[in-house]
Amino acid sequence: MKKRVHRTRRRLNFILLLLGLAGLAVIVAGQGSAPQWLQRFSSPSEQAGEGPRHVPNGALNTGETMPTSPLASSTPEASPSPSPTPAPQYAEADWIAVGDLMMHSPQVPGAYDAKKKRYVFDSFFSEVKSILSSGDWVLANLETPIAGNDRGFKGYPLFNAPIELADAMKQAGFTIVTTANNHALDQGVSGALNTLKTLKQHQFTVTGTAASAADAAELVLVEKNGIVMGMLAYTYGTNGIPIPKDKPYIVNLIDENKIIQDIRKLRGAGADFVTVALHFGKEYETAPNEEQKRLARKLAAAGADIIAGSHPHVIQPYEVVDMVDEQGRSRQALIIYSMGNFISNQRGLTKEYGVIYKVKVRKQLHDGTIQLTAIEPIPTYTHRYKPDAYYRYRVLPLPDILKASEPDPLLSKSEYPALEAMLSKLTTRIQSMSSGATAPASAP
Ligand SMILES: [Zn+2]
Repeated sequence: MKKRVHRTRRRLNFILLLLGLAGLAVIVAGQGSAPQWLQRFSSPSEQAGEGPRHVPNGALNTGETMPTSPLASSTPEASPSPSPTPAPQYAEADWIAVGDLMMHSPQVPGAYDAKKKRYVFDSFFSEVKSILSSGDWVLANLETPIAGNDRGFKGYPLFNAPIELADAMKQAGFTIVTTANNHALDQGVSGALNTLKTLKQHQFTVTGTAASAADAAELVLVEKNGIVMGMLAYTYGTNGIPIPKDKPYIVNLIDENKIIQDIRKLRGAGADFVTVALHFGKEYETAPNEEQKRLARKLAAAGADIIAGSHPHVIQPYEVVDMVDEQGRSRQALIIYSMGNFISNQRGLTKEYGVIYKVKVRKQLHDGTIQLTAIEPIPTYTHRYKPDAYYRYRVLPLPDILKASEPDPLLSKSEYPALEAMLSKLTTRIQSMSSGATAPASAP
């Protein structure tokens, strides 16, 4: 089995070497405080000399972030006597995901840059770029082929978006694109292959569609800060467009037993945790149905750590499930049923809202266990406006927009109360299946 590994192993080895050297240097020099770069892997309490910090079971935060990165905190006071620098206890990295990226016909003409003679979609994501680019794994579901501009652009029901969308996604900070969705074959097999090619040319890690059986069999493992994520993606179907019998690999369909096998393969190949993107559920339903719950919980029990759901075009809640693994250790999995539309032309019934999930993944270095120590859902709003003959679109992070000291220049004052009410409504919906629900993400 070939592995497609995007590793930063060399960097990790280098850091470990530096850590060893630094430990020596600190002892020799008799400095009590660790250099700033060394604090990256140590928690605030470790820095304060309180020994290792363990997060108790069930301590998963909801709706609030963990303390700021140790790297960003100030150096603690130097102690007067020499003490050895504590070894790092854990590694951490941020997992970020959004819902469906769509390209309905009205989204295209306003993005044409006549001077550059090409489409520029950067403004779609410019207001969320700082959030997205702060992640280590940054996932999007691309729910349209980008099969080639020579085919012309089409919206629903057989999409084809300008390939420049991939540039904007790259620019925004996305690193992993899932392509298993009901529009994967809108432009046929050749459209799916062209899409894959363009995404790979843009250096995205792509899961969900494949160019060959060998390509489909490759395991997708993406390592960040010494934590290896295994990545899988499946869709419930392809809108009735048949998958060619001789190309069953072209798009991954949901098949419970196959997914469980794939999770095991990834674990066997060294994945510390596994994300399964599922394109499932019923359109426009704001809560998961029984089949979504059954499947997601079963996959979580089988070893998936995060289920990243999309397709209903509206936000559905998330839940955290507690389990015991084969070694008898307690484990938690995060199931996100639907992240809604990240960008689209759909309006009404909350279809113009989505949610960015930011999850802190922590790996305990002594035993390799994974904890999701912070789950931050950030509701977003696709703002649509019409400065001339064509619409423009921007994804706005609702909490930031509403608490900003300056009003947004493109939003009218009268839009704010409705957005405030919507943030509250969506936050309630997002948290409705989490027992540990706390303050909304917008709380100061
Ligand atoms: Zn869909």
